[in-house]
Amino acid sequence: MARYTDSVCKLCRREKQKLFLKGTKCYSDKCPVEKRNYPPGQHGLNRRQKVSEYGVQLREKQKVRRQYGVLETQFRNTFEKAARLRGVTGENLVKLLERRLDNVVYRLNLAPSRKAARQLILHRHLLINGKIVNVPSFLVSPGDTIQVKEASRRMTIIHDSLKRPRGEAAAPQWLTMDKSNLTGTFLAIPERSDIPLNANEQLIVELYSK
Ligand code: SF4
Repeated sequence: MARYTDSVCKLCRREKQKLFLKGTKCYSDKCPVEKRNYPPGQHGLNRRQKVSEYGVQLREKQKVRRQYGVLETQFRNTFEKAARLRGVTGENLVKLLERRLDNVVYRLNLAPSRKAARQLILHRHLLINGKIVNVPSFLVSPGDTIQVKEASRRMTIIHDSLKRPRGEAAAPQWLTMDKSNLTGTFLAIPERSDIPLNANEQLIVELYSK
C-alpha cells in the first residue's frame, strides 16, 4: 500500500496550520508551525502568488485528507459515499471521516496520533464489540464499544497517551471512556458543529463536483 514517508511536519507547514500528526510534539514548543508558519522549501517564506479558486479548494481538500491520514483514492471513495447519503454532502463527508476507527481511537486518547492509532489497530490490539478488528477505516456505529484487548493492556503507548494533554482530541461528547477498563463507547454520530475540525468542507464538494 502507498505510504507517505517524508516529514509530516512539512504537511502542516504547507497548510500553515497544525494538523496534529505527531502526537506529543504537536502540543510542545518544538512544533515547527510555532516557529516557521510558512510553506516548506527554498521559496516558502517569500512566495507571493495569487491563488486560484481551484487552488483554494485543492488546499482545503488536502488539509482535511492529511489531517485524517487518508490516501487520495480512499478519500474520494469516502466522498462518493457521502454524496449518496441523505443530507449535506460536505457534512456527511466529515461525519464519515470522524467515524473511522483510527480517528475514534485517537479521539478516545488511546493513541497520541491517528497514525499511532492505525498501528494499534493493524497490530490487532483492539476489540470492537468483543471482536478483533484490524481495519483502520472500519466505520464505528452508535453503541459500539472499543476495548483494548486483555494481552495489550500494559502497553506504554496507551498509558502515556491517556496521560497527555488532550488538546485537539479533547474529550468529545459523543464518546465515553472507562479508563479502568480501557473501554470506550461511541454514543452517537456527532453533529458537524461538534466536530473539532477547522475546515470548510463545502470547498471540497465544489472541487469534486467540477
Ligand atoms: Fe509537526 Fe505536529 Fe506541529 Fe504538525 S502540529 S508541525 S505534525 S509537531
